[in-house]
Amino acid sequence: MADNESATASTTDQEASKSTETKRWADVAEEEQDVAEASSTEPKLDSLAIDDSRLGHSTLTDPDDSSIEAVTSGDTPYTSAKRFEDLNLSPELLKGLYVEMKFEKPSKIQAISLPMILTPPNKNLIAQAHNGSGKTTCFVLGMLSRVDPKLTAPQALCICPTRELAIQNMEVLLKMGKFTGITSELAIPADPANYIPIQKRPPITAQVIIGTPGTICKWMLAKKLGMSQMKILVFDEADHMLAESGFRDDSVKIMKAIAKANFSCQVLLFSATFDDAVKAFVSKIVEEIFVRDYNQMFVKKEELSLESVKQYKVHCPDELSKIMVIKDRILELGEKVGQTIIFVRSRNSAAMLHKSLVSLGYEVTTIQGALKQEDRDKIIKEFKEGLTQVLISTDLLARGFDQKQVNLVVNFDLPVRYDRPTEPDYEVYLHRVGRAGRFGRKGAVFNLLCDDRDDLIMGKIEKYFNAQIAEVAPWNSEKEFEVALENAGLL
Ligand code: AMP
Repeated sequence: MADNESATASTTDQEASKSTETKRWADVAEEEQDVAEASSTEPKLDSLAIDDSRLGHSTLTDPDDSSIEAVTSGDTPYTSAKRFEDLNLSPELLKGLYVEMKFEKPSKIQAISLPMILTPPNKNLIAQAHNGSGKTTCFVLGMLSRVDPKLTAPQALCICPTRELAIQNMEVLLKMGKFTGITSELAIPADPANYIPIQKRPPITAQVIIGTPGTICKWMLAKKLGMSQMKILVFDEADHMLAESGFRDDSVKIMKAIAKANFSCQVLLFSATFDDAVKAFVSKIVEEIFVRDYNQMFVKKEELSLESVKQYKVHCPDELSKIMVIKDRILELGEKVGQTIIFVRSRNSAAMLHKSLVSLGYEVTTIQGALKQEDRDKIIKEFKEGLTQVLISTDLLARGFDQKQVNLVVNFDLPVRYDRPTEPDYEVYLHRVGRAGRFGRKGAVFNLLCDDRDDLIMGKIEKYFNAQIAEVAPWNSEKEFEVALENAGLL
């Protein structure tokens, strides 16, 4: 707990009480948006290894009976892969999939996208896939099967928006590629204690590099990360990586450097969301930089919110009642159903909620971008191992964080655009919802609303996704919360 107390250090009691009267905590200005990478170590992956033996394994069902539209260019025929054997994978990779990952067959998006990725001429791919439907496997398997194990040089590069996501993807790569002998390295912000400037390091020889854009650019500019043998470049959460408000400049810089060094490098762009503007930009830039056509895979907007996750709204009279709902209803009932992530809009809001819940005697941990990297790693590790049940998070974990035991997501603050706080951030909403109900599991999302602005934002979200979000009323009814969880299939 001590580590997380630091999350509360910057905010005083006085501010807390003031905020409940006038302004919401989330409205207090942030120095930095919490979806970006922080700065630069190579964390020791051993210490980050997740012991999931205590978590138990349940049978998985493929969530995806939705319509996925694949748009292929050129005349290469692709056949959907019913079994992993249909993909021409090495025996080592098949062993990784069956023995280590314990997968039985490809999910729907894997069945459709893997043949497009693996069949020569290995065209570029822009792929949208539901949250939790198995997209990591698509690009990790793509990277592992395109690398030549005999060539000691970087051949695959995966770029992610946060160090947490880079570490998580690296864990999947290490597990899936366990029998291949393929080498890998993380390129993420270094912890100041172990920091060795890149100029003082030998050139990178690992075959797969997974990292965040700032560190990758730094390595590239220092000429330590050679691009000439690069066969495959992956952008995870590609819409954010190429959005103007995201990492567009670094991402484009990396793409251009790779295209210059190795024109035939394949580019894969994966995300659960691509709004129209980003989609247009992504398609244009891929075509312009690599001067080639590309394949696409898309899901209808209405189908994106996961069917298996029930969404609810709760009208609370004020901010204090939001805390009461979390304490008396969600945490009490949530204990019976699995783990919970509570999303807040700002570091300040995270700190205040953390403080309130801890002072009421609840054990919660909190993650946000201003924490030290080793604390961030520790909090994630404890949550992934099931040692903690409730995690408060800024949007740092909104995208990609994969923890099967998360059944409940609470939007303590609704997601809004940073530049226009009355406008919902639809993509972030969808990504937050996607933290529950991984790979077709059941889940519930509670949106806590407490004023007209929240109502307006919720209304826009419902309209955008063409979804009627059920209300749990009154806000303090134990019975109604139980019914909501029953209807979500969790009780
Ligand atoms: P992702 O969308 O890649 O984060 O994957 C969501 C979850 O589904 C992860 O926990 C994966 O381990 C799991 N998963 C992915 N592909 C499969 C598969 N073919 N069979 C069973 N589980 C899978």
